[in-house]
Amino acid sequence: MKYSMLFTACIFFSVSIANGKNPISMGKQFNDNIKGFRPFVVNNSRFFVSRTGVWPYKPVIYDLISGQKTVMKDPVEYGTIPRRLPRYTGKDWLKARMSGKYYEWRKAELVFYDSNTTGVILIKEQHSPIQNPRCPKCGGEASIFHKTGKYYCPGCRRYLSSSALVKSSYMSYYAKINLKKNQSSLFKLYDDWVYEIANDFNNNIFYWFRDEVDKNNKKRNLRIGSFNYDQGKNLSGINIPLTYRIKNGGLRAGISKDGNYLIFLEYDEYSDSKKKIGFLENPAAQGIVVNLKTKKHKFLRIPMTPYGYDIHDKTKMVAVASNQEGLLHIYNADTGKILRKTSIPRGVFHMAISASGKYIYIFHKSSFDTFSVKTLKKLYSFPVTNLCPGIKSFLSAESMISSPDRKRVFMGIIKKNNLWGSSDYDSGFQYLDLEE
Ligand SMILES: [Zn+2]
Repeated sequence: MKYSMLFTACIFFSVSIANGKNPISMGKQFNDNIKGFRPFVVNNSRFFVSRTGVWPYKPVIYDLISGQKTVMKDPVEYGTIPRRLPRYTGKDWLKARMSGKYYEWRKAELVFYDSNTTGVILIKEQHSPIQNPRCPKCGGEASIFHKTGKYYCPGCRRYLSSSALVKSSYMSYYAKINLKKNQSSLFKLYDDWVYEIANDFNNNIFYWFRDEVDKNNKKRNLRIGSFNYDQGKNLSGINIPLTYRIKNGGLRAGISKDGNYLIFLEYDEYSDSKKKIGFLENPAAQGIVVNLKTKKHKFLRIPMTPYGYDIHDKTKMVAVASNQEGLLHIYNADTGKILRKTSIPRGVFHMAISASGKYIYIFHKSSFDTFSVKTLKKLYSFPVTNLCPGIKSFLSAESMISSPDRKRVFMGIIKKNNLWGSSDYDSGFQYLDLEE
């Protein structure tokens, strides 16, 4: 009874403040064969890219204005990009890798589309034989057992595993592909594996990063690279020394809409949920905001499990929402200082600052709420049961992505007969409209 009275009071409160329309409303659903709503990009707010979940990589590009759908071929099928090699198994695979000529395309991710050209990040793994292989156990020189052609250690009297015989090196590329003319150019981004951040569509720049950990010297470096995909040119990079972590949860990264700032967030979660402490200490989990104009950066003290984060160029505002801690922090992007903070319900999985910078949308497992930045009060609530009838709360953290123009937010589809309360089990995707 107490609970229901409180509930009624809350509804009354939010309606009385609202005096208008909830800015979050149902958009459109695409009942397509898109499973597992993870790897996708929204391009220029018009094109939405997803994948069908099968290998080789064949991304599907949706034009949200015309409704047209383009299914791209495997990127290596265009122009002069080296083709995939056959996949060997067992003995043949080791033999192929020992030849020094074997490579694999390990990752493909479409990051740009403009109705003629696509930009795809490709990561190549080159296999090569280790010269004079040694036994990993005793360090002795290996010999070839001529009958089988296998390497063995005479001291330990055992065969060497493939990890002692072959090594891998990685190379990251940006492939610019003209779909209509079937032409491609391959640009090297870096001599190792890189992670995409996002595009700055205003300046035709693609940003990537690496969280480089040197275990021997206990050092860590954030390497940020940028590539002008119009000119096909690598631009100067930024390196930021980070605190070495024994348990490194990795970094989450994002860009502000106008391309003025990059944000990186260290991931930490409860190591002890009773004591409410995480794995990272001295310092606790940090955020890094990079001003791309001045190339200066600031560290932020951030909460754990920062599933929601956004930067707003005009107001120089950074907002971070914690899933486990139920906290919303607002910072100044140039000073790194906390301007405001408040408690929010736990279970946040996405967050977005509105186009004007006046509101913050919190996407939470049971409702999508609109907060005033000025007062930090909840103004509107959109229950998830409006989105998926019969479901009051999602069971897991849903993947969501905001469009660059801040007018939409995309997520997977959850059908009401899905007992798991997660979009991972249903195909298709949808978007919600965000209007102030
Ligand atoms: Zn040995």
